[in-house]
Parts: sequence; C-alpha cells; structure tokens
Amino acid sequence: MSSILFTAEFGTTVAWLSQLPHGQLPEIAFVGRSNAGKSSAINALCQRRRLAFASKTPGRTQALNFFKLGSPRGEPQAWLVDTPGYGFAAAPTSVREGWGRLAGRYLAERVGLRGVVLLVDCRRGLTALDRSLLAFVRSDTRLLVLLTKADKLPFSHRQQALTSLRQALRSEGLPSDAQLLAFSANTSLGLVEARTVLENWLENDGAALPSPIHS
Ligand code: GDP
Repeated sequence: MSSILFTAEFGTTVAWLSQLPHGQLPEIAFVGRSNAGKSSAINALCQRRRLAFASKTPGRTQALNFFKLGSPRGEPQAWLVDTPGYGFAAAPTSVREGWGRLAGRYLAERVGLRGVVLLVDCRRGLTALDRSLLAFVRSDTRLLVLLTKADKLPFSHRQQALTSLRQALRSEGLPSDAQLLAFSANTSLGLVEARTVLENWLENDGAALPSPIHS
C-alpha cells in the first residue's frame, strides 16, 4: 500500500528558529537520544535507505532537518522533522544547551506541529534525558513512543519493556492517549502500525485520535 511517507525527500536544514519554513503545514517531529535508532526508524517508515543519513553529516547534527512530503515536483504538503539526537556524552555543554534553544523551543512553540515521535531504545528504557526532553512537549501535542530495536528482546521481555515504559511515561504526567509501539527497523515490527498513526496525524486536523495501541 502506498503512503504519503514514501514521498519524503530532503527539504531544508534549520540551524536557527528564524530559518523555519513559513506557513503552517502539518509537521511531525522525531526526537530521541543519539543512537536510539531514529535515523533507521525514519528511513524504514519512509521506505528509504539513506534519507535520514544527512542528519549525521557534520554541521547538520545540531540542526533540525526538514523532509518534505507530497508530490515530488509540487509544493510540500507536510514535513517530517528530524531533531538532533541528544545525550551524546562527548557533546560539549554549549551544544547540549543549544538543543534546548533550537529543538526544545521548536517543540514547545511550533504551530503546525501535529505530533511527536519519541524513540526509546528498548534496552535502555526512558532515561533522564528523555524526561527532560518531554518537558518541552506541549500537553496538547500527540505523542507516539517507539520502543526501538525490539528485535533484540524476546517477545515476553518486549511486553515487560512496554509496560514499564507506559508506567514511566505516566509518572511524567503524559497524556493518557500517548501511543506506544514495540518497533524494529530491522524486522519491520510495528512499522505498519506506526505509519498508520502518522498518516492519521497528518490527515485528521485536530480530529479524535485513534484509540491507544498496545502491542
Ligand atoms: P540514531 O543515532 O538515533 O539516528 O540511530 P541509528 O538509526 O543510526 O541507529 C543506531 C544503531 O542502532 C545502528 O548501529 C543501527 O544499526 C542500530 N539499529 C537501529 N535500528 C535497529 C533495529 O531495529 N534493530 C537493531 N537490532 N538495531 C538497530
């Protein structure tokens, strides 16, 4: 089946909030610790090999990377936004503070933001840095949490990991309609379900959310 996500193409890099694209197209932001599997998830969701690879090239690592969705030669209809991975131990303090000034403010203030996809490595669970990131997410922003690399966990451990993640998110006061999915870019676990959630976000302007997924 086709998906608007398959039309993704690199659009623009934003290093300062003043460079954000104008207009209020729907946007979906991807956030997560460095190495959480964010690039792999974006590539898998968009059925592309190296789409999100650009965000790893020097100079783009601390920027927001906008991928446009829509017909290839036409105006973009929506944006997927890759935010800088956080928590890289070697990143100097100024870089870490820069994350809040750019990505944090973007998450807190961007009008077109339809939802946030948080990537959490299944073997690490929700970390202190993820919690501080979530503080930037407005309470009315939809949230999909992907428990990444779930192929590394046996099925029973996967359920356990999802349950503890749900509890951890609840203790952060997250919206009860936050959706959680076990996800693997390697085996495509959760891929179709995640795509469906994102397509719904893009299609339903403020409409009721589908019921939370437990898998
Ligand atoms: P990013 O830094 O968050 O963009 O993470 P990447 O997508 O670059 O992935 C970080 C590492 O995790 C790489 O070595 C990937 O090959 C690995 N990885 C990503 N997704 C998966 C997955 O679904 N399963 C497994 N086993 N490894 C994965």
